[in-house]
Formats: sequence, C-alpha cells, structure tokens
Amino acid sequence: MKFSNLSYWEKQTWFSDNDVTIIGSGIVGLSTAIFLKRKLKHLKITVLEKGNLPDGGSTKNAGFACFGSLSELHYDLNNLDETAVFELIQKRYKGLLTLRELLGDKNLGYESFGGYELFTPKQEQLFNHSLSIVDKMNSWLEAISGEKNVYTTCDRKIRELGFSGVSHLIYNSAEGQINTGKMMQSLIDLARQEKIEVLFNCEVSSIQEKGNAFELLLNNSERINSKNVAVTTNAFASQLLPNLQVFPGRAQVLITKEIADLKFRGCFHLEEGYYYFRNVGNRVLFGGGRNIDKEAETTFDKGVSTKIQASLEELLNTVILPNTSWEVDRRWSGTLGLGPNREPIVSEIQPGLYAGVRMGGMGVAIGSGIGLQLSEMISSNF
Ligand SMILES: Cc1cc2nc3c(=O)[nH]c(=O)nc-3n(C[C@H](O)[C@H](O)[C@H](O)COP(=O)(O)OP(=O)(O)OC[C@H]3O[C@@H](n4cnc5c(N)ncnc54)[C@H](O)[C@@H]3O)c2cc1C
Repeated sequence: MKFSNLSYWEKQTWFSDNDVTIIGSGIVGLSTAIFLKRKLKHLKITVLEKGNLPDGGSTKNAGFACFGSLSELHYDLNNLDETAVFELIQKRYKGLLTLRELLGDKNLGYESFGGYELFTPKQEQLFNHSLSIVDKMNSWLEAISGEKNVYTTCDRKIRELGFSGVSHLIYNSAEGQINTGKMMQSLIDLARQEKIEVLFNCEVSSIQEKGNAFELLLNNSERINSKNVAVTTNAFASQLLPNLQVFPGRAQVLITKEIADLKFRGCFHLEEGYYYFRNVGNRVLFGGGRNIDKEAETTFDKGVSTKIQASLEELLNTVILPNTSWEVDRRWSGTLGLGPNREPIVSEIQPGLYAGVRMGGMGVAIGSGIGLQLSEMISSNF
C-alpha cells in the first residue's frame, strides 16, 4: 500500500466515516445521491469518482433522449415477452421525465426535434417488420404518455433531409436530444448544492466488510469507512463486485466541424440502433458500428479503431451527407455496461451494499429513474 499524505484536516473534512458512499459519479451515482439526500437530509453522503471528471458513459454519450427505434423494439418483442418490452419502454419514457424534472430542460439543453429511423433498400424486410408493430407501439405509447400516433412513416421527407440510398423513414414525435455536458455539469452542481461531497481522482480498489460497516481502499493508499455503499460504476462493476454479470462494450463516436446548410435536425437511428447520428447545432455527431467488430470492442480500453471509424466515415459519405463536404473535429469512445439481456441490475447485494449498474445503451433515458429506485431501496433501510 502506498503512503497516504492526507493531513489530519483533509482526512477529517473529506475522508472521515460516511453514512453512504456512492462509487461512480455518472448519471446513476449522482441521481442516487441527490434523491437520497432529499429524502434523508441528515445523511453524510459522498460520491467517489476515479476520473478527474466523470469518466464513464455519462460524459461521452450521444445525448439521445429516446426510448427505442421500431426495429429495436421488434427485435425485443422476438426475444422477450410482451410485458417485459412494455416495461422497458415505460422505464425509458418515465426515466426521461425524471431527468427532465430533476434538472429542467434549460439545464439539459433539451431540444425536441423528434427522431427518425432510416431503412436502406437492402432492409426492406426489417422495414416491414418494423411497420408490423406500429399500431401496437402507438397504443402502448398512448397508454404511457398520452400522446397519439408517436410513430408514423414519412418517406416523403427523405429528399428534404438530404439522405442518399434510403428507401424508408419512420418518424418518432416523442424523441428529444440533450446537451450531455450541460446535463452532467448540472447534476454535479445540484449534488453540491444539496451538500453532497463529490470527490474526483478517488479510485476505490476494494470494498471489505468490517463489522457493521464497509472499509473502502482509496487510490491504494487511504482507507475510509462507510455504513452503506452503492456501486454505480456501470461497465466497471465487475472490477469491484466480480459476481455481477456486467461486461464492457466500447462505443465509438465522431463529431464533424460545422457544416453550412446542414439539412436535418433531430436524432436518427440506422441498422437496428447499431448506428446513430444527430445534429449538434450545425455539426453531425455520429456513432456506432460496434456490431462489425464485437470481439475487439468488448474492452475497457479507451480510444478508437480504424475499422469502426472508417465505417462511420463511409456511411457519412454515402448515406448521411452525400455531396456535402465535411471534416471530423473530434473522435472519442465511451464504455457501455452490458449483460446477457437489456435489464439493468438494481439490487441490495448484501445488507448495506447496493448496486445500480448495467445501463446498456440507454443510461440517459433510464439513469435518473434507476437512481431514484436505488435511493428508495437504500432509504427504506434507515
Ligand atoms: C458513445 C456513447 C453513446 C451513448 N449514447 C446514448 C444515448 O444517446 N442515449 C442514452 O440513453 N444512452 C446513451 N449511452 C449510454 C449512457 O451514456 C450510459 O448508459 C450511462 O451514461 C451510464 O451511466 P452510469 O451512471 O450508470 O455509468 P457511467 O456514466 O459509466 O459512470 C460510472 C462512473 O464510475 C466511475 N468508476 C468506475 N470504477 C470506479 C472505481 N473503482 N472507483 C471510483 N469510480 C469508478 C467511472 O469513472 C464513471 O465515471 C451512450 C454511451 C456511450 C459510451
């Protein structure tokens, strides 16, 4: 173990015993802390984050406020029972409302341009499968949101939006988009306003039960005690709790420089959700392609690969921005927390030790709702 150079004052002020320690400062960790503190004001709650900023999916994502494209939902209906799919959609829709209520649309940079799913001529069968569930999905969404006819076909817009090699388009009127940076900054600000400590550069390397509490080893040098611990490290969960079935999925993204006369606004899905793009002002943020190199992308490594970035660039040239000149401004990746199914894990692993992890590709949608659920689970034990 390294020598810890924390002074008595530092130890006493920031690293003394906690009522609840939350590990990981993503959407789930910060939302859990805020909801818990609002319910039980007297608790001493600290969020520990290994990065110098939140360093998981929450600061790297594409900012789609969405609840599933039709082809994805069709896939889910073939693999899960109907009730489970209905609950998945409801969890995403309500999770987004929870996030919007918590931070407010202005602080989220929320915009409601709607969403679209694109189908190429090769995907005629996928399009027909998607069409076959429009009525069912519209009636479910009406029951969940009160909004009628959320999904409609809109092939007539293909030309106007400037796409090439696209034969069908399905519009989703209830989809929105957020500014991911604003969301995370607002969550951190809110947590601090609520008198929650959010400490960066604090990596927890182990959790050990000690009597009625837990001892956390920090940065291999300092130990702190906490009566309760919530692990909200998503993709990295199995590093602290090896029995959890969570594995990493690297998701790569690029963003272009500003494009004069960009023809579209909104969120767009391609190939059963494996590719996704949106406008960010007059730029295009484009991500996906994990399906073409799944083995290599099952990794905790950061960075991008030539293979996937080339596939993104090709689709930009041929389908999304044909006849338009564009340049890449930045490329990055983030890590998804995946499992054998799309269900997140929200549970009390043993008395006082909780986990809220495995958000898949939908953590913006469900993260705050999962935080609320986890906070209720923890508060019920006080
Ligand atoms: C490129 C990309 C695009 C995405 N697009 C969308 C989208 O458009 N819409 C959508 O709904 N979802 C999207 N997602 C998914 C979404 O971002 C995630 O599901 C969500 O952010 C997960 O939130 P979280 O709080 O569970 O985990 P994270 O945000 O991953 O937070 C976990 C935190 O734990 C920290 N940590 C890990 N180990 C330790 C440790 N030992 N000690 C201390 N701290 C630790 C990490 O540094 C990290 O900050 C996308 C994800 C990526 C990567």
